[in-house]
Amino acid sequence: MAGLFDGAVKRLDKAAEHAKIDSEAVERLKHPKATLEVSVPVRMDDGSLSIFTGYRVHHDNTRGPTKGGIRFHPQVSLDEVKALAFWMTFKCAVTNVPFGGGKGGVVCNPKELSHLEVERLSRSYIQQMADFIGPDVDIPAPDVYTNARIMGWMMDEYSKIHRRYQPAVITGKPIPLGGSLGREDATGRGGYYCVEELAKLRGWNRSDIRVAVQGFGNAGQTIARLLHQSGFRIVAVSDSQGGIHNDVGFDVPSLIQNKNETRHLKAVYCNGSVCEEVDADTITNEQLLALDVDVLVPAALEDQITGDNVDDVKADVIVELANGPTTPDADDVLFNRGVLTIPDILANAGGVTVSYFEWTQNKQGYYWPLESVQQRLQSMMSREFAAVYDVMEQHKVDMRTAAYIHAMNRIGEAIEAQGTKRYFANGGHE
Ligand code: NAD
Repeated sequence: MAGLFDGAVKRLDKAAEHAKIDSEAVERLKHPKATLEVSVPVRMDDGSLSIFTGYRVHHDNTRGPTKGGIRFHPQVSLDEVKALAFWMTFKCAVTNVPFGGGKGGVVCNPKELSHLEVERLSRSYIQQMADFIGPDVDIPAPDVYTNARIMGWMMDEYSKIHRRYQPAVITGKPIPLGGSLGREDATGRGGYYCVEELAKLRGWNRSDIRVAVQGFGNAGQTIARLLHQSGFRIVAVSDSQGGIHNDVGFDVPSLIQNKNETRHLKAVYCNGSVCEEVDADTITNEQLLALDVDVLVPAALEDQITGDNVDDVKADVIVELANGPTTPDADDVLFNRGVLTIPDILANAGGVTVSYFEWTQNKQGYYWPLESVQQRLQSMMSREFAAVYDVMEQHKVDMRTAAYIHAMNRIGEAIEAQGTKRYFANGGHE
């Protein structure tokens, strides 16, 4: 993915025109603070030794230790990891969690590895990274093809190396190993709180609002379930195989029950364990994006709404649960058409927010009840949604640019507090 980092950095200049940030600070944010490439040796099940390539990037740590997931994927590259670390800096600043941005990855195909090989790979990666990460330095989390179990192995390996229990070194762990209640559904829930805030602003009658959700995994299922519970009409959902559509709206708990039991997405109504098929059109993912709905939620992959299909999109509001689902050219078209896009660095920031809660609980050694996690998440998401919305109206920009402005103001304040040219050149006067 050549040029992903350069593309990500371009967003800075647009937002910097409006942000209260010194040009030196903007320049700093264009360069990751540190990057590390390592060889990750793994003894395979057949006795041979394989050497994988691993990366970790600290983008910026002005506001706190760097934070971001570890990806296991054949297409991982340093450029991609740098871009993902860059986005984490801004996601953390948007929600005001006291972290900078980081990210890591290993070039591998976990689908071709046994469970034991994945465990050895995870532990070996941590052995190479042991001096580059830490509870007050850089805190990883799960990302594509890594999960809670892998986080548990990594935490255990780090603790062994440092000869003390260190749960705060990594988040997204299993609950019995120091994970937080409420982390599992935090991303979809954070997006849901954003939609609720918008519903208040627009005075929506929820049962009139038709919602389509692309991607019916962790994030997509959660937002569909919560919106349905709140009275919105979920008229279409899809997974990698395709989607279903019915303008009346689906009973989402039945869809989730069936999907999780059969691994297939079907239009059903379940009563207890008995599920019966109900009427629906079968649609492709392309058709889902073009449906006549009020709210479209991309919750699967990047680059879904592009210059090629943006003219077909009819939704008035897009809620980006996936990272990077809208390309920059499509963004401009949507903005000019008056479509509101709640950008990924705000809409899916619930995940990192509850990761922050997990880290805090690990440091305190005191674990919060689920209600506290959800209340604090709601209060942070609602507050920052309102703040970004205000910036958008004040500067008459799209909501993505507003989120970057909001984040840059916070990062800029922290950088200026350490002194920039304006301070030093004026003999210490602001
Ligand atoms: P997941 O693996 O649980 O679910 C992904 C879903 O997308 C699956 O239902 C899959 O079938 C579907 N899918 C795959 N290819 C598709 C396609 N071409 N069209 C439609 N659907 C397709 O993953 P997730 O954790 O829900 O993550 C989804 C997105 O949200 C990703 O972009 C991820 O980076 C982003 N995200 C997730 C979190 C989190 O905490 N889970 C946090 C921030 C961002």
